[in-house]
Amino acid sequence: MYAVRDQLRAELDQIEADGLTKRERLITTPQSSHIGTTSGEALNFCANNYLGLADHPDIVAAAHAALDDWGFGMASVRFICGTQTQHRDLETAIADFVGTQDSILFPSCFDANGGIFEVLLGPQDAVISDELNHASIIDGVRLCKAQRFRYKNRDMDDLRAQLEAARDAGARRTLVVTDGAFSMDGYLAPLAEICDLAEEFGAMVMVDDSHATGFVGEGGRGSHEACGVMGRVDIVTGTLGKALGGGSGGFVAAPTEVVELLKQRARPYLFSNAVAPSVVAGSLKALQIARDSDEPRRVLRRNAELFRSLMTEAGFELLPGEHPIVPVMFPGEDGARTASQVADAMLARGVYVIAFSYPVVPKGRARIRVQLSAAHSEEDVRTCVEAFVAARDEVS
Ligand SMILES: *Cc1c(COP(=O)(O)O)cnc(C)c1O
Repeated sequence: MYAVRDQLRAELDQIEADGLTKRERLITTPQSSHIGTTSGEALNFCANNYLGLADHPDIVAAAHAALDDWGFGMASVRFICGTQTQHRDLETAIADFVGTQDSILFPSCFDANGGIFEVLLGPQDAVISDELNHASIIDGVRLCKAQRFRYKNRDMDDLRAQLEAARDAGARRTLVVTDGAFSMDGYLAPLAEICDLAEEFGAMVMVDDSHATGFVGEGGRGSHEACGVMGRVDIVTGTLGKALGGGSGGFVAAPTEVVELLKQRARPYLFSNAVAPSVVAGSLKALQIARDSDEPRRVLRRNAELFRSLMTEAGFELLPGEHPIVPVMFPGEDGARTASQVADAMLARGVYVIAFSYPVVPKGRARIRVQLSAAHSEEDVRTCVEAFVAARDEVS
């Protein structure tokens, strides 16, 4: 073991030397717009807490009540003795919200994406994946034996070329898979065009809406609602770990046969513990809030619009769009260093944002990714913009 530990230490040293070491910030409060950390208070602009539900009193109360009513843990996978009536209630509620026949819960969306491809696709089949899809889709695709095709991010000419290649390869089933919203850019996938192309070639469409479910689209149903293609997307995967309370758990929402087959065959479903009762109850409450109230979405949109317009006025370059993920660009040779210095200077002022550079984003396209939340007040948004301006002046 000593020899291996030395090798691992060398690998860690290399990561450090490359400036790629990720360090955990220790938080001392619930997740929210204002958080305490071991190095002071911070205004938080880097959580996926889009609807501000992570510490919502009704959700906390529902989870509390579930501890009394349903206990702490399931100590079982779903199919042995790990399914309470509320697990099925949550699956029905998710399907109803997303607009599919049924849904199935997984321990996480990572597991949902990890389990689905090998169940649906064999060696006679083809999967066509956007090049910027989430790591869990990439890993899930690796686990299946289908022929793999990849298209350039949101590039419909390339998607057509890959659909032709899959057809020419004689694929039995073809599945096109994309993130609904891309997390580094805040761009939506062009789902109307993707559905048109898929229909032309007789392919299925799967969308991972982890950065959309609950808040994208008029009713928060997701990117398929925003793009006007609800009912034309065959399969939606998503997470309970972001906008919908941010607890944990993931799902596949799909036609009955897909859900039923996943219950028979999906390995992360069959061989991993059921989602905890309090998390199920809290997520049910979060879904109910997302369905019944437009208010959190309205506040989120107001915050994103305000931030985008104030930052543009202040002379920052943003990637365009409406998503509450707002990338503030620091292009060019020195961009990576500037972005990370600006982020550090902002944290010193109590505003927490994260800089991303190569290899997470392309070379020369460094950015600070800001994530707005319905939990932010208008003043929080203004404070963030002021910190950007001050940090830019300090760094340049
Ligand atoms: C966050 C995310 C996941 C993982 O979700 P978990 O439930 O945290 O495992 C999967 N896909 C996408 C696109 C995501 O953004």
